[in-house]
Amino acid sequence: MVAMVDGDIISKDHKKAEKAIKQTRNAVVKRLCINAKIDYPYAWWQGSEAADKIEFVDKFLGTLISVISGSKVRAHDHELEFIRYRVPQIVAIFGPKPTDMTADDIDSQGNWHFGEGDHEKISLLGSTLPVPSDIRSKDQPTKQEVIAMADAQLSLDNCPGCNGDIPFGSIILITEFAHLFPANCCDNMIWFNQDAETDLEGLE
Ligand SMILES: [Zn+2]
Repeated sequence: MVAMVDGDIISKDHKKAEKAIKQTRNAVVKRLCINAKIDYPYAWWQGSEAADKIEFVDKFLGTLISVISGSKVRAHDHELEFIRYRVPQIVAIFGPKPTDMTADDIDSQGNWHFGEGDHEKISLLGSTLPVPSDIRSKDQPTKQEVIAMADAQLSLDNCPGCNGDIPFGSIILITEFAHLFPANCCDNMIWFNQDAETDLEGLE
C-alpha cells in the first residue's frame, strides 16, 4: 500500500491488506499533522467524524496491490494522485476539538490547554463552542462565540456541580445565549441558559 503526501511516497506493506491500509492511513495522518504542527491525534479513526476523516485520508492513498514480500515499490503502479490541501484544513480535521475540552484544561485567563506544552493553548474568548442542546432553545445556534468572561466567584455562591465553594480564579464564559462555568472543583463543564443567570461581573 502506498500513499503520497506533498509528492513524497509513503509505503507500508503487511501480510494482511487491512493492516497495510491502516498503517498507510496512520502514516499519512502523522505526516499531515507534522506539516500542520499539531499533535498526532491518537485513535483519530474513532469517534463521530471518523468516516469523514478516513474519506479525506484515503484521497492520499493509491490502489492496493499485492506484492511479493520485499519487492521494490513501484509508485506509478498504485495510481497515486497529487492531493492539494491547506494547513487550516488539517488543523480543522485532526486538531483538538472543543468537545474534548474539560474544566481542568481551562485556566483563569480563559485559555484552553489542549496539550502539555506551553504553546498548546487557545484563548476561548472569541472562539466558538458547541452549546449542549438541553440548555439551548431551538432558535439559538448550536455553536456560539464566547463574547465575554466573568469572575465565577462574584457570580455564583456555590458550584452547581459539587455544591462546594467556587475556587479562586474560576471564570464563566459568556456567549450570546449561554454561560459556561468550567468547574475546576469537580471538573465539570456546567452550562446555563443565559436567562438562568444574573449579576455577572465582567472581567473585561
Ligand atoms: Zn464543583
